[in-house]
Amino acid sequence: MAAQALYLKYRPQTFDQVVGQEPITRTLRNALRQERIRHAYLFSGPRGTGKTTMARLLAKAVNCLAPIDERPCNACALCRAINEGRLLDLIEIDAASNRGIDEIRDIREKVGFRPNEGRRKIYVLDEAHMLTDQAFNALLKTLEEPPPHVIFILVTTDPHKIPATITSRCQRFDFRRIPLQAIIERLAYLADQEGLTVEPQALELIAHHSTGALRDAISLLDQLTSYGDEITLAQVQMVLGTVASEAAGKLVACLVEGDVAGGLDLINRAVGDGADPRQFGREVVEYLRGLLLIREGAGTRLLHTTADQAEEMESLAKQIPLERLTGAIRLFNAGTVDLRRGFQSIPQLPLEMALVEALLNSEVQPPLGPGEVKAQPAHGAQPTQGAQATQGAQATQGARAEQGEPTKPAALEKQEGQAEPATAGAPRRVAEQRGPAPGPRSTPAGTEPAATSGAISLAQVNRSWEQILQAVRRRNPIAEGALRSGCEAVEVRGEEIVVTFPYPFLRDKLGDPQRRMEIQEALSEVMGGRCRIKLVLASEYTPQKTAGPQPAASSPPEPERDGPEMDDQEMAELQRWVDQVGGQVVEE
Ligand SMILES: [Zn+2]
Repeated sequence: MAAQALYLKYRPQTFDQVVGQEPITRTLRNALRQERIRHAYLFSGPRGTGKTTMARLLAKAVNCLAPIDERPCNACALCRAINEGRLLDLIEIDAASNRGIDEIRDIREKVGFRPNEGRRKIYVLDEAHMLTDQAFNALLKTLEEPPPHVIFILVTTDPHKIPATITSRCQRFDFRRIPLQAIIERLAYLADQEGLTVEPQALELIAHHSTGALRDAISLLDQLTSYGDEITLAQVQMVLGTVASEAAGKLVACLVEGDVAGGLDLINRAVGDGADPRQFGREVVEYLRGLLLIREGAGTRLLHTTADQAEEMESLAKQIPLERLTGAIRLFNAGTVDLRRGFQSIPQLPLEMALVEALLNSEVQPPLGPGEVKAQPAHGAQPTQGAQATQGAQATQGARAEQGEPTKPAALEKQEGQAEPATAGAPRRVAEQRGPAPGPRSTPAGTEPAATSGAISLAQVNRSWEQILQAVRRRNPIAEGALRSGCEAVEVRGEEIVVTFPYPFLRDKLGDPQRRMEIQEALSEVMGGRCRIKLVLASEYTPQKTAGPQPAASSPPEPERDGPEMDDQEMAELQRWVDQVGGQVVEE
């Protein structure tokens, strides 16, 4: 309410005070001067851009008693009555809560009566797009033959939801978002009037954050005055921190839905709006942890959440497959740690990677079946609960359905107690995640034993690829995620395994000496001999030996590899993202 006060206090009282809508004020003033006011207007545009304010200005101007060029004067009886909200001839209706035909019939009945005090009766229909079809029909009849003393102003953020029969009878004005500089100037003016000292960067961040909605900007400034008369950038960031936590919830929703593009957009907007990427990363981890607690039966009582948030979290917790959840926690946590080292040029990159990897990873993984259920008792959770959760997870994942065929039936079978791996990787994967590195012994029966001596073949590497990735994961989840982003073993040269990667930015993720060593250790562990890794950008790779039956294409039939499978759209998204971001990462 204090927040509202400043906004109301500085609500423009004349056309000159309106910020950032010059073409509209000019047109309306001309019409007033020429006494060519229409009977119906449509004011459309984003929230907080001055539509309702303009409607009130118009209502004042057409009724004002001052000479025509001075309207609205804000001094005459009618202007004052409107400013004080007591002119009976200005009827403001919130169409969102009065959207039915009865309300419009009521208008139609009264519309014929002459104005009480003023020259014109003005009906302002706020949120006009919310009217029902019947109400629109009733309104249409009035608009077709409006009494001469009546003006309708339809105000909406969603003009396309208003029937063309209506809009064609209105003069339409599209309110634009208010330019950043205009908002900054207006805020500076208000601050000055209010005796506030505001750091220029603070003003800028407030303005930036409001994305063209002046009302939001003023409300935020107002909120900040609770800190005192001096407003700093740090304070603004702190207040907006709450925004970061909201954004975290939305990002997790994207994770649940597998919406890569939406998630990337969110990260970029949050960071663009001034959220500190590390803070944002921590919020995401914290939020995901909340889901984990809920899933494991701790409920929301351990979390500091509002009732709304708790409800949202409970719903998300039911939808997210456990494996995606734990994977995302690991990745975002690692990404947040990575942020400490600083990515100066693209601070949000580790978060973007975490998102993409979390989705790619769980994309290729079967919807956690049996391994999950089996692994749970070791950690004291009730198996039944796990099984239920698992079913939920399957439903979600099933809906997403790309590589669907084998996983779902296999997993269901499993639940009835049959032991039959859905894919070679599944049970082991989960067990490994949960336990402290069980090592090679966890190799399930039926998996090709790794080479114990002598030369390693490419086919062996490929057959053990999933195992290798798991071994890498135990050492470094980021490296594993990167390897899953389309990397392929393509050639074996003695103890050197050549792996191609599709995107230049992966070079950093994989080539870092520490990670490289970890990958090599994992390779050696699984393949049972000393291995080195050679990383080659896929587009630069040429097989060493010409000919030979060795290159990947002609390898003996391999079992379907668990590589990341993306459909074309996902691939295009990733590619677009790589185009935006990737080139800057690698200095070449
Ligand atoms: Zn007046």
